[in-house]
Amino acid sequence: MANNPSPSPNPNSNSRFWKSAFIYLIWIALTVWLIRSMYAPPQAKQVSYSDFLSEVNSGKLSQVNIGERKIVGVIKPPAPAKTKQPAKGKTEKAAVPPQPTKIEATRVPGLDIAPLVQDLQTKHIGYSGNMPSSSEWMDLLIFWGPMLIIFILIGVFMWRLQKRRGGPMSFGRTLAKMHDGTDRVTTRYSDVAGAEEAKMELREVVDFLSHPAKYQRLGGRTPKGVLLVGPPGTGKTLLAKAVAGEAGVPFFSISGSEFVEMFVGVGASRVRDLFQQAKRRSPCIIFIDELDAIGKSRAGPQAVPTNEEREQTLNQLLVEMDGFDTSKAVIIMGATNRPEVLDRALLRPGRFDRQVVLDRPDLKEREAILRVHARKLQIGSDVDLKYIAAETPGMVGADLANIVNEAALNAARRNADQIEQRDFEQAVDRVTMGFEKKGRLISPDEKERVAYHEVGHTLVALTVPNADPVRRVSIVPRSIGSLGHTLQLPERDRYLLTEPELEDRISVLLGGRVAEDIIYNGIVSTGANDDLERATMLSREMSTRYGMGKHLGSMTYGISHESQYLKTPFSMEEKNYSERTAEKIDGEIRERLDRLYQRAKAILAQRRADLDLIASALMRQETLEAEEIQRLLSTAHQERTPAPQHEVSSTQA
Ligand code: ADP
Ligand code: MG
Ligand code: ZN
Repeated sequence: MANNPSPSPNPNSNSRFWKSAFIYLIWIALTVWLIRSMYAPPQAKQVSYSDFLSEVNSGKLSQVNIGERKIVGVIKPPAPAKTKQPAKGKTEKAAVPPQPTKIEATRVPGLDIAPLVQDLQTKHIGYSGNMPSSSEWMDLLIFWGPMLIIFILIGVFMWRLQKRRGGPMSFGRTLAKMHDGTDRVTTRYSDVAGAEEAKMELREVVDFLSHPAKYQRLGGRTPKGVLLVGPPGTGKTLLAKAVAGEAGVPFFSISGSEFVEMFVGVGASRVRDLFQQAKRRSPCIIFIDELDAIGKSRAGPQAVPTNEEREQTLNQLLVEMDGFDTSKAVIIMGATNRPEVLDRALLRPGRFDRQVVLDRPDLKEREAILRVHARKLQIGSDVDLKYIAAETPGMVGADLANIVNEAALNAARRNADQIEQRDFEQAVDRVTMGFEKKGRLISPDEKERVAYHEVGHTLVALTVPNADPVRRVSIVPRSIGSLGHTLQLPERDRYLLTEPELEDRISVLLGGRVAEDIIYNGIVSTGANDDLERATMLSREMSTRYGMGKHLGSMTYGISHESQYLKTPFSMEEKNYSERTAEKIDGEIRERLDRLYQRAKAILAQRRADLDLIASALMRQETLEAEEIQRLLSTAHQERTPAPQHEVSSTQA
């Protein structure tokens, strides 16, 4: 993406910036002055030199400082007054103005201060020579120090802004990056893998931008605003660019977060500027990324304290969207991963009235995305992208692009001229679970426990009828808190799960804890925490969401207020059932878990020999692939039948 030569700056917004910066400065200076004058100690009382001398002689002073230009005397604190009416004394005291604690006289030029010094000595008053001048410096510093710091901060802030802009002061000027005739958008539909539905929906936009006259002649409502919705990394930006590329039109892109500046009015003027530029270059696309940064709802549960700047920007955007007529073939595309927080006003007809959803890619789509990114690379013949796609459920386009990139780096590190399957495997491992921590020390006891735990998962998965096939089991520690993992792999993505399949899943999750239970005679460890949490959640969902309970009937319990796109850890659940029902639910969840625990225990007790066999092999090799497990089991004359599949789940210790 390249910046075109920047458009002429908007002089208005520039002067507006300086004006507001100036006002800020004045305001800060006033505040500092006010605070200072409020907290400054009572000033020394100015007296003449002769009065000063008489004060010295009357013995009222405790200390004298003789400065270059001034002589300051500190008055002895008055002896506590002997009040006769203690009750009313307080109010009277408050009325008395504070007595000065110092007196100050100006030194008469050329006057000898020897007599003064003599007086001080006879009266036993301490004196010093230079404190006043140093305290003058302190005064200056105290007054100007904060100002100086503020000036420096403002300077740094401006300098950084300028650097980010990469040019002279350009507040208010649009930051939109533009591709024009000489620098066409090169992204095409073929660069966007999967997302076929979204691409179909946007075909009309492409057609409109390519032949605007055709649509305008008919006089119908032409498309104007399209909102791309989906989790981060699913290719929203990519798709918007591809639309511009397919239509061969300029592409102005700007991010909502860039609009939010600290000076009021800048965002709005940027919006104005952006639309002006775009109108001159129509047909074209304006792409506003992170629309939620400016378009956050002004009311409702997600409402934030009003931010005048953002509100102005949003209003300007609405005005501009309504303002230009459809004879200008300008399409505004927005992107957000939080459509639920957008202001309703943005979604009204004539604005972002079309929504195109980009979901996480499924198995086939993931393979297609990997293929798109592997296109330009030297890929070895052993590479199985389908397998990689199956290993990466839940990942989005950005993650997959990252994996391909990592794989290429891995190959480069080996000085190989082709990327091999192992490079991809390593990349997947790295992206999913963090680096293998080779240096981490694990005691042999711990290692044995982790091995049995993982093999527990593995053997239960190999035994129950509906589990995903096990692809790999490992006790290599990874950086994300897990001690080992069992990787199960489906042959296709699943959208429906039956009750027996869910129960088998729970059994597999419990397998790790069960193995520890059997091997160490009931002495279990903390290693099963994550497993137990997931098993409990599954059991709960079966009862409360899927109507799979024996005694709870075909109904749901609780209303889940969870955003479709934003899985927060604080997703709220509204309880709409009684305490008695809650007890029933808990009992049923518990009963199911207990039953499945016992089932897993029966399986592993019966396969105790296999458990020992595989666990000791795992301790030796640290990682066992599916084929090795099968070989070990069949040489031990055990025959297993592979089971049909569902979704990948990686079970961590
Ligand atoms: P979003 O804007 O939704 O956060 P991006 O469009 O910025 O996601 O995607 C980031 C990168 O991920 C893209 O540059 C591209 O390399 C890759 N990517 C995402 N989705 C796809 C896809 N469907 N096909 C190919 N690459 C994709
Ligand atoms: Mg993006
Ligand atoms: Zn586990």
